[in-house]
This record gives sequence, C-alpha cells and structure tokens, in this order.
Amino acid sequence: MIWDELSEGLAGLDRDGLRRRRRQLASPCGPEAIVDGRRLLSFCSNDYLGLANDPALIEAAAATARQWGVGSGASHLVSGHFDVHEQLEQRLAAFSGFDRALLFSTGYMANLGIVGALLDRGDAVFADKLNHASLIDAAQLAKAQGVTSLRYAHGDIAALERQLAASPARRKLILTDAVFSMDGDVAPLAELFALAERFDAWLVVDDAHGFGVLGEKGRGSLSYCGVPESPRVIYMGTLGKAAGAAGAFVAASADVVEWLISRARTYIFTTGSSPIMAGALLASLDLIEHGDARRAHLQALIAQLREGLAGTRWQLLPSPTAIQPIILGDNHEALRVANALYERGLWVPAIRPPTVPKGTARLRVSLSAVHTPAQVGQLVEALRGLS
Ligand SMILES: *Cc1c(COP(=O)(O)O)cnc(C)c1O
Repeated sequence: MIWDELSEGLAGLDRDGLRRRRRQLASPCGPEAIVDGRRLLSFCSNDYLGLANDPALIEAAAATARQWGVGSGASHLVSGHFDVHEQLEQRLAAFSGFDRALLFSTGYMANLGIVGALLDRGDAVFADKLNHASLIDAAQLAKAQGVTSLRYAHGDIAALERQLAASPARRKLILTDAVFSMDGDVAPLAELFALAERFDAWLVVDDAHGFGVLGEKGRGSLSYCGVPESPRVIYMGTLGKAAGAAGAFVAASADVVEWLISRARTYIFTTGSSPIMAGALLASLDLIEHGDARRAHLQALIAQLREGLAGTRWQLLPSPTAIQPIILGDNHEALRVANALYERGLWVPAIRPPTVPKGTARLRVSLSAVHTPAQVGQLVEALRGLS
C-alpha cells in the first residue's frame, strides 16, 4: 500500500538518529519547564528577553481581546485589517527606521512572500549557505518561477562578489540571516550592503534573532552593524522570538511595502493575524524600547557561559548573541549529551541535520534575560561535570 514505505522511512530515521519528537510542557514559556511532572531548567527557547509570559503582554492581550475580539475574520485585504494592526505597523516602521512596515502571520511566510514578489524569470537570488530553512525555501520557490538561485559559502563576501559580477541577471537580490539561527554569528551586513550598492541589488535581511536583542534600544542587526538607511534594504523581523508573541513584519520603503501588499502571495491569501497579537506586540515594543537593562543582563549571562566553558572540551562557536551552540559533530553523540543533561534536569536541544549541515550536530544553548546567573552557573557546572 502507498503508506508502507513510511514505516520503513521512520525506521530509517531512527537508525540515523534523525527521528523528531516533541516534549509536552505543562508550563508556559520560561526558564523553568514542567515536563512529565519534572521541573527542568530550560535553555531552549528564543524568548531572548523573557517577554513571552510577561504580565504587561498578557494584560495587553486580554484588553485587546475584549475590544477587538479574537479573530480578524478575513485577510488583511478583505476586511481583516483593524486599527490595532495599523497602529502596530506604524510603530514597527518608526522603531526600525523605515518608511513603512507590513505585518505577516509568520516569518516563514514573510520570507516566501518577499522573494516571490520581487523576483521573476531572468532575475537572480544570492543566498548565504547557512541561511534559515525559510530563506532556502524562498529561494527554491523563486527557482520554480525561473529565477537563478545561487548560494555562497557562509559569510564569504569575496565569493558573493564574484557571483554578482558574473551574473547577467536583470534584477539581483541578496538574501541573508542577520544572526544565523543555529550558529549565533552575525552576518557582515555592512559589507553585504556595500556589495548591494555596487551591483544595484536588493538586500533582504532576516533579523529573526537580532530584533529586540541587538543594536541601539534593540532596533536590531542593521543598527548593530551600522548599515545606513536605504531603499534597497528590506528588513524582516519576527515577533515570536525576542518580541515574545507571534508573527513577523517586513520594514522597507513605501513602494516595497505597497508592492508586497499587492503581490506577496503569503500576505494576500491568508487570514489576517489575530488582533490579540497586535495588542500584545504594542506592549512588547514598549518593553523592547525600554529594555536596556534586560539586554545588559543577557549580555552578562552570555559572557558568564563563555568564560565558564573556556578551556573545557566543549567547543563554543564565536557567537556574540544569545545563541550559543556547542558543536559535537555526530548525531548520536549530540543526543547522548543532550540526554545526559536532561537526566540532570537541564534541557538543551540537540540540533541535527537537516537543520544544520551533516557532521555538525550540536547542542544549541539559548539564553534569555529571564535566566539568573545561578541558573547559567548550573548549566556550566553540569557540562564541566560531563566532560
Ligand atoms: C524562526 C525563524 C524564521 C521563521 O519565523 P517564524 O515567525 O517562526 O515563522 C525565519 N528566519 C529565521 C532566521 C528564523 O530563525
């Protein structure tokens, strides 16, 4: 029967250490998670500022639900665009330093929408090899539209320059994570911008992990890297990580946003995001803008972890962000170490291919401003004890 090969496929995933499973939480997002009746110290979430369960966001969500209801009822283009959505878009544009901003239901959809709307047959996309899966899929989708899709080695500006120089494409688009989601390093955005200027290309920056965390007042990676304001930059920020809620936005020139409203299929053909999210996110933006103390605390935890593991067998990548991966290489070894930590009450996810390249399985420690130094100390001690 047609389904028989699935059981063989699943057995194959087990053999290769690639079967995915979910753990069910009996507690909201936070530094401690209750799983199977056990209290675990969690280093898993992308809730970098600890806003996912913040009382101000909860209050704003509840008040918004009372005023606007739960659902938007239709796509933004039909009748699902409310005052509260519009207010959030204007706040996001002003905060990120662009003319306009446009809300998407998820970052995944925003990335597919941007690339699909801006490129067509005869154009070319240039993507960092370690880009997030949603950007890889965006490039794949463009390929199906007749766009040439090229990838350059991670952070390799010279390779990108050669590809741009050799490309006969009419329109070019450079596509990059700002903070690489499984490595934690920051893309050379100023250099990428200079190349985009030289070759008259779009520069699309996915700041899922920088928005709220990096740059002045948490404005994100463009501010952190000193990229000047420019109509060729298209900035995508997600709202389910540091912002603590859900959704995403694209900030860009007014023309780009108008174009996306009319042409981005993942914007047009989907129900408007819940007004509750927009209300919660307005409260979140207040906390992000006034979040220097949270960001300073997070930076101190990052330094504590890195110093605590220096000189041990645990090999950290050169990441200045809340994402601190420990490279183990082998899938089974990554699972073994993750399980050993789990036994000790510490929850750190093992990340394996295809999320990361083959042979680079790792533990992905992610820190949050709601962790305490004592909690990070517990992780350091446990890792040192495992050696
Ligand atoms: C999480 C993530 C996304 C997807 O955003 P969602 O809103 O969760 O769909 C896109 N890009 C990067 C780099 C991410 O880490």
